Amino acid sequence: MSIRQAIEKVEARYAHQPEFVQAVKEVALTIAPLYDAHPEFQKMKIFERLVEPDRIIAFRINWENDKGEVQVNRGWRVQFSNALGPYKGGLRFHPTVNQSVLKFLGFEQIFKNALTGLPIGGGKGGSDFDPKGKTDSEIRRFCYAFMRELHHYVSKDMDVPAGDIGVGSREVSYMYAMYKNLTHEYSGVLTGKGVGFGGSLMRTEATGYGAVYFLENMLKVQNDDIKGKKVLISGAGNVSLHAAEKVCMLGGIAITVSDSKGTLYDEKGLNQEKIDWLKKQKDQGKPLTDYIEVFGGEWLAGQTPWHIKADIAIPSATQNEVDEEDAQKMVENGVKYVVEGANMPLTAKAIDRVCENRVHYAPGKAANAGGVAVSALEMSQNSVRQYKTFDQIDERLKNIMKNIHDSAAAASEEYGQTDNGYIDYMAGANIVGFKRVADALVAYGILN
Ligand code: GLU
Repeated sequence: MSIRQAIEKVEARYAHQPEFVQAVKEVALTIAPLYDAHPEFQKMKIFERLVEPDRIIAFRINWENDKGEVQVNRGWRVQFSNALGPYKGGLRFHPTVNQSVLKFLGFEQIFKNALTGLPIGGGKGGSDFDPKGKTDSEIRRFCYAFMRELHHYVSKDMDVPAGDIGVGSREVSYMYAMYKNLTHEYSGVLTGKGVGFGGSLMRTEATGYGAVYFLENMLKVQNDDIKGKKVLISGAGNVSLHAAEKVCMLGGIAITVSDSKGTLYDEKGLNQEKIDWLKKQKDQGKPLTDYIEVFGGEWLAGQTPWHIKADIAIPSATQNEVDEEDAQKMVENGVKYVVEGANMPLTAKAIDRVCENRVHYAPGKAANAGGVAVSALEMSQNSVRQYKTFDQIDERLKNIMKNIHDSAAAASEEYGQTDNGYIDYMAGANIVGFKRVADALVAYGILN
């Protein structure tokens, strides 16, 4: 079966899972040259095998809110592939979570994790629980109840979840407490734990910092530099604020962050004081709009940042937040680099639009791999029960991001996807990630 036929099969079977089909198509369409060069992949039906998760675990979570009312949510863990290591990937708590979203995230995670070069397979999980407006005790009860179910299916050498949207160090710590309570085991079964009880230094910063390190590598290839460049960032979560922080540290000018209600536009640029304020505000669940009274700037109600003039865009909110029209606006406003901090923030048409205008584009599975890479470093620190310093982890992260950049660029060149110095990072990243997993699957035979 050709890749084309395999895509058609996935489209027909999973027409009700649009995000998953979108993620599969993006990978499939770009790995064709690799597939043609490796008939063994076709013979062993590697692609058809990889689009089906090893298993999906679905469960119900009963918990009680502060009023004593019984609440019922749904939870899942998608164990996609353990070809390269234990299933690894975050847990997302958000009302939009369903099997399509978790399968797209899990599928992406396989190749992202392979790209890090570290021994981690791919998985993802979460719940349709909405953390917005919940009290700390409600969050705690929900996390306990979630892990009461999930603990049957995860362990340090088998499946190691972490955070994602709606799940940060507070939630991971509650879930870790329940796991420890039920199993009597103190192990690295979750990453993103609090520093001081098993968490790695820099895990919180890693995704945002890593995306900017990836960007630095892209700029260097073009003999360019981040200094003085205007950067649009969407989202106001962990990835966005740490991407903004690293942009500022390196002399760039981050001029926006955003949330579901609108965009905060500070023409003068964020600085450490403003970012620290934003982090605190977000931790307390308070609105971004208060910023205007403290630091000035503009609140663009109901708008995204993409119509603002800038050099670089780092979409870091959520999937499909940038559509074709937004991409067109970016191009018209001078954006030369798009680096995905979130997972799949550009629609397929938006990607086409930026690429046909030769805007340098880094897909999330390459650019935001820093988070899961430091998670893998957390796993190894937990195993040896020794901890590295912030600077040691930062150095590793820089190297990992450079390796991902360089290997994607090299694969783009090797498979004829680089056009007159314009690197196809999407094709390169998919080829490198897919090949590492496919080689392992071929070696294993037809198990896995
Ligand atoms: N949720 C993050 C991601 O999308 C991190 C996963 C992890 O650290 O396991 O890669």
